[in-house]
Amino acid sequence: MNSGNIIKILAIGIIISISGISLRGQVNDLKNTNMKKIDTKEFPALPYGYDALEPYIDARTMEIHYDKHHRAYFNNFVNAIKGTAYENTAVEEIFAEVSKAGDAVRNNGGGYYNHVIFWQNLGKNSSGPSAELAAAITKAFGSFDKFRETFSNAAKTRFGSGWAWLYLTTDKNLAVGSTPNQDNPLMDISPIKGIPLLTIDVWEHAYYLKYQNRRPEYVEAFWNVVNWDVVNERYKEALLCI
Ligand code: MN
Repeated sequence: MNSGNIIKILAIGIIISISGISLRGQVNDLKNTNMKKIDTKEFPALPYGYDALEPYIDARTMEIHYDKHHRAYFNNFVNAIKGTAYENTAVEEIFAEVSKAGDAVRNNGGGYYNHVIFWQNLGKNSSGPSAELAAAITKAFGSFDKFRETFSNAAKTRFGSGWAWLYLTTDKNLAVGSTPNQDNPLMDISPIKGIPLLTIDVWEHAYYLKYQNRRPEYVEAFWNVVNWDVVNERYKEALLCI
């Protein structure tokens, strides 16, 4: 073999190892996930009417929550990124380095994204977890009931305002946890990390009109309006992205 061929082989070897390193790097890098990105150009419509989740979540709460709270997060997020390097970056990608982006982006970007996921994973008359998701839930928590209890406890015990999550970890397991304020598991500052599959908003504005201080009642009612079809889809998609 002449020296030219040896150099070529060495060069190919180096390229292969470099691409191997970068592929491995992406496995734990959530900003590179191919999960469908949410729209940051236009405030999305609620996927159902305000009264669709009655009696578990009342129409008046839904109207104020969506039209006032959520819309304000969207507007403030758009203003916070206007004219910055983040203006044309997917919000999911901003989350991966949100510690650098500042509190306005963190709070309003989180507030915008989290509510989109929340509205999508609510609905009525869905069947339940798919066979694949049910098996993963049993593997991670022992049983569906144990999962439900763990998730409910995370929601009930989150002190102050925040969110509880079922998420897919970077090693493809299911986990449950909660985040304060408008943080979420995609954020670099979050101690729990993964792709969100199911979430519940436990800010008082999400339940106070109907349940006042009885957050546990609201959390139990939530289970009647989980749109499992959407959660099943997110699980399938997330598995391909990690
Ligand atoms: Mn909210």
